[in-house]
Amino acid sequence: MTAGEAAAPGTGADPVPGADAPYLTAAQDRLRERVRGVLARAVLPHADRWEELRHVPAEAWRTLGDAGLLGLPLTGPGFLDSAVLLEELGRTGYAGVRAAVGVHAYMAASYLELFGTPRQRAAYLPAVRRGERVAALAISEEGAGSDLRGLSTRAVADGPCGYRVTGRKCHVANGSRAGFYVTLARTRQDAPRRGLAGASLLVVDADLPGVTRRPRPLAGWHAADVCEVEFDDVPVPADRLIGKPDRALVYLMRALDLERLAAGLLAVGGAAYCVGLLDRFVRTHRVRDAPLGAQQAVRHRVADLTAELDLVRHYGLRAAWLHGGGRLDTATASVLKLRSTELAVAAAQACVRFHGARGLLEGSAVARLYRDAAAGTIAGGASELMRELIYESTGERGV
Ligand SMILES: Cc1cc2nc3c(=O)[nH]c(=O)nc-3n(C[C@H](O)[C@H](O)[C@H](O)COP(=O)(O)OP(=O)(O)OC[C@H]3O[C@@H](n4cnc5c(N)ncnc54)[C@H](O)[C@@H]3O)c2cc1C
Repeated sequence: MTAGEAAAPGTGADPVPGADAPYLTAAQDRLRERVRGVLARAVLPHADRWEELRHVPAEAWRTLGDAGLLGLPLTGPGFLDSAVLLEELGRTGYAGVRAAVGVHAYMAASYLELFGTPRQRAAYLPAVRRGERVAALAISEEGAGSDLRGLSTRAVADGPCGYRVTGRKCHVANGSRAGFYVTLARTRQDAPRRGLAGASLLVVDADLPGVTRRPRPLAGWHAADVCEVEFDDVPVPADRLIGKPDRALVYLMRALDLERLAAGLLAVGGAAYCVGLLDRFVRTHRVRDAPLGAQQAVRHRVADLTAELDLVRHYGLRAAWLHGGGRLDTATASVLKLRSTELAVAAAQACVRFHGARGLLEGSAVARLYRDAAAGTIAGGASELMRELIYESTGERGV
């Protein structure tokens, strides 16, 4: 399902401006309606159960695949279709579900799509798009999170067999259900350990001997199935190397900008859901014989969050448009990721505060938003790292 079913978005075939012009077309407005309809049927009635299960079940992946939601463009002008989907996934209000889909269809799949060989793409991506094989990204380790220089997973060349991969990855979303892991490992053991020199990206199939996954549930993002994944001398065929050997840094720099963009757009949707929930509540909940919003302090807080959401959302659309034109830069992606995820935290805090005790009820949407929000400021790069990346760019951008 793409806006392109009606007309190719952003290609001039359908120049009719949409509600979010100049970035989105009328065809993308129609795509948004279709995406909302699919998510209303395929996600919303089931998401509480998935949160309890702590993963998105196999049949749900296939439903999303059948609806065309797992194969929207990752690059080019068609990425604006993806921007619509990512925002709408956020607007479901289930950060665990949105993260599972985001990692599968964007963050993990992007390495194959952008840097994989035609054979690798043909072997993995059709099943990803149909939702038949779940994709995961195994980059982080206990000693390599914000600073990947601590990477210790090794992929040792093993003659005709390819590589023997050994190491332990942590916080891997979709970890227990994944059919494969896009994995970062050191392929040159003699390279200096100071940087990512001599590191490569490999696809490690989950059914290879020596792969063990253990759920390591987090306080938030329950449906995201966050696991520890251990590789113990796993034999990985040589043709699973993504791109050139020892060049992971080059690929990461490009793909991480897309990851920050996708995370930012998901968080924009999540913040919109939360601010909408808060807005409706303060207009209807009565304290001292008046709606809560009659209190200036309350309505000004909602107004501030709404204003910030408006700014961040438009910034997100611009970032998506830049990416679609091949011009997204690290600073823009980092600004979006920083401000959207921090907004989600601020909105969740206000939501809990103004809901009173009912906002802390186990199983309530407000409590879920509150416990989910912090994870967004860490996953895909902590806010402090985003600030570092933004600061690094200020000189060259002439701020
Ligand atoms: C919900 C969730 C899902 C995730 N999914 C995946 C996944 O699918 N695949 C994967 O590979 N990884 C995943 N991660 C891991 C994630 O990428 C790392 O958690 C993140 O990069 C931060 O690394 P860390 O947790 O080791 O924190 P550390 O690097 O140890 O940092 C700890 C804290 O120090 C602070 N800090 C860091 N750098 C700086 C700095 N330069 N200046 C000041 N303060 C700083 C930040 O507050 C940071 O949170 C996930 C994480 C979460 C929370």
